[in-house]
Amino acid sequence: MKEEIAVAIDDLTVAYNYKPVLWDIDLTIPKGVLMAIVGPNGAGKSTLIKAILGIIKPIAGSVTIFGKPYKNQRKLVAYVPQKGSVDWDFPTTALDVVLMGTYGSLGWIKRPGKTEKKAALEALEKVGMLPFKSRQISQLSGGQQQRIFLARALVQNAEIYFMDEPFQGVDATTEKAIINILKILRKAGKTVIVVHHDLQTVPEYFDWVTFLNVKKIATGPVSAIFNNENLIKTYGINYQVSVLE
Ligand code: ADP
Repeated sequence: MKEEIAVAIDDLTVAYNYKPVLWDIDLTIPKGVLMAIVGPNGAGKSTLIKAILGIIKPIAGSVTIFGKPYKNQRKLVAYVPQKGSVDWDFPTTALDVVLMGTYGSLGWIKRPGKTEKKAALEALEKVGMLPFKSRQISQLSGGQQQRIFLARALVQNAEIYFMDEPFQGVDATTEKAIINILKILRKAGKTVIVVHHDLQTVPEYFDWVTFLNVKKIATGPVSAIFNNENLIKTYGINYQVSVLE
């Protein structure tokens, strides 16, 4: 049976102020993987996600989501941005933020109703944040806000989830809660793509990995390509490889 492709990236080059930060990336992400994108700071990991989602315009190349441009596939995609990239100063409750995730499936004028509210409460329960549903989002800790973002992504009922460092600055309990949900999503056949920093946990958390440092270094199953050779190619020769026994 032919493997279904969730995301196909072709000859993608992105530059800021004429300086290329992603260079000629070809990348195929199969449906149903739980994939980490790893690489040093400034490797272009966030930029890659933003380019896939059309937030940044590439200078060359193309991206398709299940065979079509992103603009035709928005409903299939959920995005959890990096913590701290959103300003939560305006008064909104946790529940409202999660409800925003249902807007995509509603028309312009329709407001979220009973069904949407039920879905939002269920998602809050899944991420362990139900007791905080009426709390102002600005009055939650960074890790708690991250869980709210995740709940919002869950109610979108997307096919592909992009998450930019969801574990950054969260405590161990939140990290476990998040990874459990990511694994549940994968079991449900969803494709989950995560910018990830902690190389130690790659083999435990993910089944697929992409090594990135401006260029694509390697991509494939963790069991096949998460090795010293690719770590050194990505992080440099002085990289202390302590993550592999
Ligand atoms: P990573 O997520 O791997 O740490 P980023 O994708 O955030 O890397 O950044 C890649 C490079 O692009 C870095 O050198 C960064 O400084 C630069 N960069 C990111 N965003 C911008 C921007 N809005 N304007 C100019 N340069 C940027």
